[in-house]
Amino acid sequence: MVGSSVVRRLSKSESNFNITSSTRDDADLFSYEDTRNIILKNTPDVIINAAAKVGGIHANNTKRTEFILENLKINMNILEACIDLNEIKIINLGSSCIYPLNSKNPINEEDFMEGKLEPTNSPYAVAKIAAIEIGKSLNEQYGHTVVNLMPTNLYGPNDNFSREDSHVIPGLIRRMSDAKKESKKEFNIWGSGKPLREFLYVDDLAESIEFVIESNVESGLYNIGSGDEITIFDLAKKIQSLLDYKGNLSFDSSKPDGNPRKLLDSKKINDLGWKSRTSLDKGLEKTIDWFIKNI
Ligand code: GDP
Repeated sequence: MVGSSVVRRLSKSESNFNITSSTRDDADLFSYEDTRNIILKNTPDVIINAAAKVGGIHANNTKRTEFILENLKINMNILEACIDLNEIKIINLGSSCIYPLNSKNPINEEDFMEGKLEPTNSPYAVAKIAAIEIGKSLNEQYGHTVVNLMPTNLYGPNDNFSREDSHVIPGLIRRMSDAKKESKKEFNIWGSGKPLREFLYVDDLAESIEFVIESNVESGLYNIGSGDEITIFDLAKKIQSLLDYKGNLSFDSSKPDGNPRKLLDSKKINDLGWKSRTSLDKGLEKTIDWFIKNI
């Protein structure tokens, strides 16, 4: 989802970037040799590391081993392969789950490594934290510019719309459209519906990446959020209205809530000049439109 959005955005840029994109089909990021070869062959000025094994609360919580191992391997291979590149700018994508569970909201970059992680996605978070530390070492030791962007919960076209393994927006869209097709009278929202989440439309993240490439953003950690939060119940009601599903919404308490609240403080990047543009209503409309046409 992120990679395709970034390629769309940069292809439209007036800067005429020469873009080389790689997908799972042409780059085996579990192999250091392959990763190094593909990077050295292209001698890039900028590398955007959007590669990751991602999933929602259920996938993170039940495939814990795969989430930590696969993400560690991807990040180690990409970042180690950059050691010998001169004048390289690395844009490394992380996640808001790197921050401690007890961080004060809105969560500031200063909270990094200040406490214990939220347990449902701690293996994934540790792999992302390791990438930030490798990036910091590359910056301090080899002088590479490493900008770590920590987006809040993302959604949009090309997301994973799996019923079980996706994040909440694609998961709700998929399961509720099934419920509508099957004329189900009841729809189960996972958990209590009370957790608050902040969402960012993926094309807004792509714009922040273009902004980082074009501007003199220094190495370090930057939160990338919209600043708007909503309860999972209110989110489900918005999706219900857009899908025109007539059944009742209820709650499945056998599923975890995860973090009660994770709103990012994006003042650092906002002050440099980037702000998100797409409202949740508009972003949901575009995402559901894409889902109906493509899934
Ligand atoms: P998180 O932000 O890392 O917790 O990951 P998710 O996006 O998967 O879940 C966010 C919240 O939405 C959690 O409290 C879930 O229990 C809740 N939720 C409600 N319904 C769903 C659903 O259909 N799929 C997912 N993934 N989460 C859901």
